[in-house]
Amino acid sequence: RRSRAAQAMGHVEPATGALVPPVHLTSTYERAADNSYPRGYVYGRPDNATAREAEAVLAMLEGGAAAMVFGSGMSAATSVFQALEPGAHVVAPTVMYWALRHWLAQESGLAVDFVDTSDPDALRAALRPGATKLVWLETPSNPLWTVSDIAAAAEAAHRAGALLAVDSTVATPILTRPLDLGADLVMHSATKYLNGHSDVIAGALVCARQDAFWARIAGVRAAQGKILGPFEAFLLIRGMRTLDLRVRAQSAGALALARHFAARADLAQVLYPGLASHAGHALAARQMQGGFGGMLSVRVAGGAARAIAAAAHVRLWKRATSLGGVESLIEHRASIEGPDSPCPDDLLRLSVGLESPDDLARDLDAALAAARP
Ligand code: PLP
Repeated sequence: RRSRAAQAMGHVEPATGALVPPVHLTSTYERAADNSYPRGYVYGRPDNATAREAEAVLAMLEGGAAAMVFGSGMSAATSVFQALEPGAHVVAPTVMYWALRHWLAQESGLAVDFVDTSDPDALRAALRPGATKLVWLETPSNPLWTVSDIAAAAEAAHRAGALLAVDSTVATPILTRPLDLGADLVMHSATKYLNGHSDVIAGALVCARQDAFWARIAGVRAAQGKILGPFEAFLLIRGMRTLDLRVRAQSAGALALARHFAARADLAQVLYPGLASHAGHALAARQMQGGFGGMLSVRVAGGAARAIAAAAHVRLWKRATSLGGVESLIEHRASIEGPDSPCPDDLLRLSVGLESPDDLARDLDAALAAARP
């Protein structure tokens, strides 16, 4: 997989021999004299050749039957829910990406039950056999890095007649392959690790089977014009060539930093699935291969004011939202999630990039010291 991704599936452009695929900017395609479209492309809203190249890499990385790219992670996720019948029953995690939780609760028109999906019994109890159409997981999930058991959720969802979809943005296909564990769909905010350079907003879905539900999602994407633009698809392909190396280095950096910060008395808690103290550690050790991901959170003793003060004093970390880029980001998470958020207000979310972990540790140590009352 690393080799195929590094070469973007070994693409060689037939007309010129170019190793880098062209950006297909066309919005429309020629119809043949016999009135057919022999090359399979009709119009740029349902489909695009550069998007298809990105999708081939994604399907390969996740071991799926097919992939679709979208203009954002949110548009990928909402397309799955919009492909359900209005009012359908779905189960989603209490702790998950906040904007999607808000959309599900306030705007989706679906009957959503939010449960602690890290507790398999709670998940099973929320399922209504025959009525529940979809179970949504995010693992590890924002911003506590809660780990949910994909294989157990797939079994329970399928027994109830529901599909399982997994937001695997933080795990990436390098560390976890949800389809191998029984999931039906994988979703990514490709804005994050897949692209990896903080210069594209993109989303992706990968399916286990190209069935009628997948066709409905494709219909949503086409009707609502949610496909990723060709230039962004080109940048995403370029990013995925180095995904394997970046994710492994970022995971190693995050583990080193989690261990370093765990020893600090002025941090009330370090949340990282790679630490034995994390509630999801044993499951993560089984479910994730090659690392625990590049995301961790720290809870600052002294509460919100001190957490915000510490973030104010960093020099190397960048104070910004998002994650998965090559530059490390620090964020007082409650400030962006708003008042209905379950995020503790003393929590700083850290996205570990590719800088030296020693430099990152020194910088945050100094910031915490400067924020001392
Ligand atoms: N899922 C997760 C886990 C995320 O972190 C994000 C964005 O922060 C999204 C989904 C939404 O993705 P996007 O911002 O690309 O719409």
